[in-house]
Amino acid sequence: MKDTRSKSRSPRTLAVHAGTRRSQYGEVSEAMFLTQGFVYDTAEAAEARFLESTREEFIYARYGNPTVAMFEDRIAALEGTEDAFATASGMAAVNGALVSMLKAGDHVVAGRALFGSCLYILDEVLPRYGVEVTLVDGTDLDAWKAAIRADTKAVFFESVSNPTLEVIDIAAVAKLAHAVGATVICDNVFATPTFSRAVELGVDVVVYSTTKHVDGQGRCLGGVICGTKDFVRKVAEPYLKHTGGSMSPFNAWVMLKGLETMDLRVRAQADTAERLAHALAGHGKLARVIHPHLDSHPQAALARSQMAKGGTVVALDLAGGKDAAFRFLNALEIVIISNNLGDAKSIATHPATTTHQRLPDDQKVALGITPGLIRLSLGLEDTDDLIADVLDALDAA
Ligand SMILES: *Cc1c(COP(=O)(O)O)cnc(C)c1O
Repeated sequence: MKDTRSKSRSPRTLAVHAGTRRSQYGEVSEAMFLTQGFVYDTAEAAEARFLESTREEFIYARYGNPTVAMFEDRIAALEGTEDAFATASGMAAVNGALVSMLKAGDHVVAGRALFGSCLYILDEVLPRYGVEVTLVDGTDLDAWKAAIRADTKAVFFESVSNPTLEVIDIAAVAKLAHAVGATVICDNVFATPTFSRAVELGVDVVVYSTTKHVDGQGRCLGGVICGTKDFVRKVAEPYLKHTGGSMSPFNAWVMLKGLETMDLRVRAQADTAERLAHALAGHGKLARVIHPHLDSHPQAALARSQMAKGGTVVALDLAGGKDAAFRFLNALEIVIISNNLGDAKSIATHPATTTHQRLPDDQKVALGITPGLIRLSLGLEDTDDLIADVLDALDAA
């Protein structure tokens, strides 16, 4: 496809074609340029490239690489941003987006329900370097209003939180942030690029762990920062290319191929998640079934307006606490016990003892991470098989 930015193309078409660069061989599948360096015809050419390099010329893979550039252009086209920078992991993207734009004395407001490593950056790393961080209940607009100040530089949130699936009112928070000129940075993993409306709703910088749905098959770590050309190339890129957070060309190739099938995969996974959530609602052994599009979700209307489907994750709270949760996990036959999400394989996680183990008990309570909570990431197996597996394991719990 010649015009990778064509607004008239649908995301499914862009996910297959956008950003493709072909070598002189005219290969169909994207070439993997496993090279860290590039050759210059002359000393003058080397000098010129270091003086000013375009996106068509490369210097060193930490700065840029043709395979990585294809992935960046493709996901930027999908997300609807001007540009993107691919990173070694989702955390390199979160850290890169925040640290590259902040300095000592700046103020950040963030939703409190965060992935553990995101919390580490906001709660420990940034304050250590003199950045003031205010954590708020992300679902409480008054809390955002009270915390955002005239000197707030950035607002950060997970659009759908991990693992309790709280939903942020993106447009309302973005409006509050923009009123003081703050940059809105959204970790959009649970919404997935397929269901994302982040840019339309006012987000300035969208961050993904591509380890999740973009790869979707549990192979590679990766991340990406999507935003304006100015933010990506003048703010994020200089920080990341000089501090080592760039994506490897091999991983970029895996992610490119992942994007081709992401729409189909994520829609099928989201359909399964929704069917499972409905099948489990009201089950006697469950205190709660959490899924953004279930009527019982406190923000179901908001979730429906922000995401065409509720995502690929369902959280269950077993009334019998940790013992019941462990009996449930150990009785699963198809769903594996692990801690990734967005994978083709369905995965069950016990956040209280794994991903969120180190969180103090009072914070676990505040975030709803109860001893009985299980996070289920639905994969690509047959939906009826999965529902039967979960129901059988609940019997055993
Ligand atoms: C997994 C995840 C990350 C971190 O991504 P990695 O690729 O593991 O570094 C950040 N935020 C959210 C919401 C995640 O789910």
